[in-house]
Amino acid sequence: MVDSDLVATFKTELQLCGVKPGTTVAALSEGLVRQEYAQATLLASRELGADVFHVNLPPREGPSSAMVGNRPVVEMLKNADLVMDFMSLLFSHEQNEILASGTRMLMVQEPLHVLKALAPSKDLRRRVEFAGELLTNARELRFTSPTGTDISYKLNQYPVLTEYGYTDTPGRWDHWPSGFLLTSGDDDGVDGTVVLSPGDISMVFASYFTSPVTLTVKKGYVTDIAGDGLDANLLRGYIESFNDERAYGVSHIGWGLNEKATWHNLGLTRNALSPAMNGYPEIGVNALAFYGNVLFSLGPNTEVGGKNDTHCHIDLPMRNCSLSLDGQPIVERGRIVVEEMKVPGF
Ligand code: FE
Repeated sequence: MVDSDLVATFKTELQLCGVKPGTTVAALSEGLVRQEYAQATLLASRELGADVFHVNLPPREGPSSAMVGNRPVVEMLKNADLVMDFMSLLFSHEQNEILASGTRMLMVQEPLHVLKALAPSKDLRRRVEFAGELLTNARELRFTSPTGTDISYKLNQYPVLTEYGYTDTPGRWDHWPSGFLLTSGDDDGVDGTVVLSPGDISMVFASYFTSPVTLTVKKGYVTDIAGDGLDANLLRGYIESFNDERAYGVSHIGWGLNEKATWHNLGLTRNALSPAMNGYPEIGVNALAFYGNVLFSLGPNTEVGGKNDTHCHIDLPMRNCSLSLDGQPIVERGRIVVEEMKVPGF
């Protein structure tokens, strides 16, 4: 029996994704991971009068999934209108090929309580798309913090990725739930200092910084990681372990717009033994999409079409920062200051 609450949650989401009679939906999963999400997709799609099927692949043994080189499955998914991706094809060539065919894709990894708590809306989409326009038109992004961050990104090279938690646009990818946007600085166009401060988050350790870590960035690369505390040691050790100079590259930059996201429950959600998880890590989208955060990150830039494909990717959501585009304030001390992006009461 698939929980009726789960099916109802998926039905609402699929409706936002434009699923209706005549739409073909594919559920994509591996092993036993998120099987109830695949089943909920089948039932909810049927209730909406859509055609639907489920592709289940063997679980991955190494870093690459059973999608690699699996032509029949790639072709089948290209024939669907919407792929609900429960195995995460993010950063794969197969995902790019499926999207290029006009199929839209939605990645789903979080447990049910997070899917519900951060449920997307048309208003979230409106605000994220407004932000996307601003960021697309900007030539320079600068962000600062009261603790000493001051870093600038030249923005001439890479597109903007919006994530608002659903997609009804052919060929477009999104992640449910979400609510932020990102781009990358030019390859040699990021310079300055980032001070990670107590309360900021390291997604790779699923923890909060408790001591300051100062990163010096020159021409798009971290050249120094300073700090006496455990946090600096962990960060240095983790990056060094990849034995890859490109691991020091600065990755994407952007800000969060989901007012439903919370900062305080990172550990709880990252460690939750939800049945929907089957032991798989979730992304920790609360911190990524948190309203008024600045999402700083290190590592690859293939997400926006760049050449750095290092396996060392570290998302570092920061609070209380100020961010401007070509001198126009967007976030001031963690508060969104552009009327069109604001949520009443925040
Ligand atoms: Fe990232």
